[in-house]
Amino acid sequence: MRSTWRVLLAAYCICCCCLRAAPQTKPSADLIITNAKIWTVDKTRPQAEAMAILRDRIVAVGSAADVDLWHGPQTKVIDAQGKLLLPGFNDAHVHFVDGGDHLSQVQLKDAASPEEFARRIGEKAKTTPKGEWITGGDWDEQKWSPANLPTKELVDPVTPEMPVWVNRYDGHESLANSVVLKLAGITAKTADPPGGQIVRDPQGNPTGVLRDAAQDLVNKVMPPMSHAHRMRAIRQAMEHAASVGVTSVQDMNPSYEDVKAYAELEERGLLTLRIYVAPLEPDWRDQAKIGIRHGFGTTFLRMGAVKGYADGSLGSETAYFFDPYTDDPKSHGLLSEEMHPPAAMQQRLKSADAAGLQLCIHAIGDRAISTILDMFEQIEKSNGKRDRRWRIEHSQHMAAKDFARYARLGVIASVQPYHAIDDGRWAEKRIGPDRIKRTYAFRTFLDNGVRLAFGTDWSVAPLSPMWSLYAAVTRATLDGKNPGGWVPEQKLTVAESVEAYTMGSAFAEFQEKEKGSITPGKLADFVVLSDDIFHIPPSSIKAVKIEATYLGGKLVYGGLE
Ligand SMILES: [Zn+2]
Repeated sequence: MRSTWRVLLAAYCICCCCLRAAPQTKPSADLIITNAKIWTVDKTRPQAEAMAILRDRIVAVGSAADVDLWHGPQTKVIDAQGKLLLPGFNDAHVHFVDGGDHLSQVQLKDAASPEEFARRIGEKAKTTPKGEWITGGDWDEQKWSPANLPTKELVDPVTPEMPVWVNRYDGHESLANSVVLKLAGITAKTADPPGGQIVRDPQGNPTGVLRDAAQDLVNKVMPPMSHAHRMRAIRQAMEHAASVGVTSVQDMNPSYEDVKAYAELEERGLLTLRIYVAPLEPDWRDQAKIGIRHGFGTTFLRMGAVKGYADGSLGSETAYFFDPYTDDPKSHGLLSEEMHPPAAMQQRLKSADAAGLQLCIHAIGDRAISTILDMFEQIEKSNGKRDRRWRIEHSQHMAAKDFARYARLGVIASVQPYHAIDDGRWAEKRIGPDRIKRTYAFRTFLDNGVRLAFGTDWSVAPLSPMWSLYAAVTRATLDGKNPGGWVPEQKLTVAESVEAYTMGSAFAEFQEKEKGSITPGKLADFVVLSDDIFHIPPSSIKAVKIEATYLGGKLVYGGLE
């Protein structure tokens, strides 16, 4: 089998990398990785020992002897020391710039006292460029004793000129320092806005904490992210991605400024991963009017998808269900703003689909998912059948009747396994014992012939694929209360999980012929792991490290020498 490839390439030069080589010349590889345990995710040859790379493509996969046929005078050979090699991970759902920005923000979640909180903000102020705000933080005053809310007086002394606007970890409250209160014009005389509260001292003066809708008073005066700041966030995100073995990301609802920054980085040859962007659905015309269709672009940066929202989230009780919430019998959750009215959403989706754009719709509650499937059925009726790869982002809580509809319509379940071990701590309280059986129902999806694409929703969950694989394989909730797995019948095998994270997500972005497996002709995006995740206890998977990450045959993280 492997020699067939060799013969084909030499005889006809059909390989895209060798088109310019004369048929008689014997091309040699730039790089050979040998003595590896390669899990290819390619059913025609699931395992191999070595691979050869020419420019950015894989040209041979097989035994050390077969691959050695590609050895020439210039070939670099790397001994993988028997380690596991997998295709690079492709995260089907990230918020990339937010994720990168998050990495550099002040970390306050584990600040154990008000003094520590102030000290960290003071440290951050020393390295923050003038004109930028100190934001993020995720503080939690419940860790302090007494558990009093922070005040502007805590941070004003260390930030006399720098705007500080740091949020509580749940996002419902944020603390502004005096600089920010002044910029927002908030004084003792400012009235509480509807749905919000300005927290005040006994004299009626603002303490700096703004609750819920009152946070908008500051958000609307916050300057937009500068280009330099955005570029920094993207570089941090790329570095982090390489360090955890992610070689492709699918960026959900990026701003056009984000896309512009990616394009600039691509032009300068600075992208160290591949990006597919899905800007917001209400703006579908922006892509359609110049004829961009799904998957348009280069191997590094592509577009042609739109991201929409059907409902909210389980945590905030805004996921939209047929039956009411178990812990709030008056509430079914809420449809998103975009779904008001649903007919307008359907019209936009139908037009976007007719223009050839791929639809990626966030839907979490069973009724939101069902409503989107209804729309998809209608769209298929009016626009006809074709290979369109609709995606339902999250696909969290399923109505029993809808698994088969996913399969029939070819809808991809774009899921984030980490959420299962996170929400699994409290989901049953909210939706009861019956609905949790069809929650993060990865096994039932596969049994019904539905394709899975794995992702994380980073920065909502960690970007590390090892955590997501661990989650899908063990379903062990983060609180340690379900060591045997939460709804264990929905567990996946390691092989199924790796496939969903590589071929599954490549398929979800129309790139299964370019990447997603270690196959001759495909892009040489791959990772080498510290341990063999197929042969260690599943509970250890989360601690496995990435030893090396390669993108297009180039090392972008770590190394084996
Ligand atoms: Zn998201």
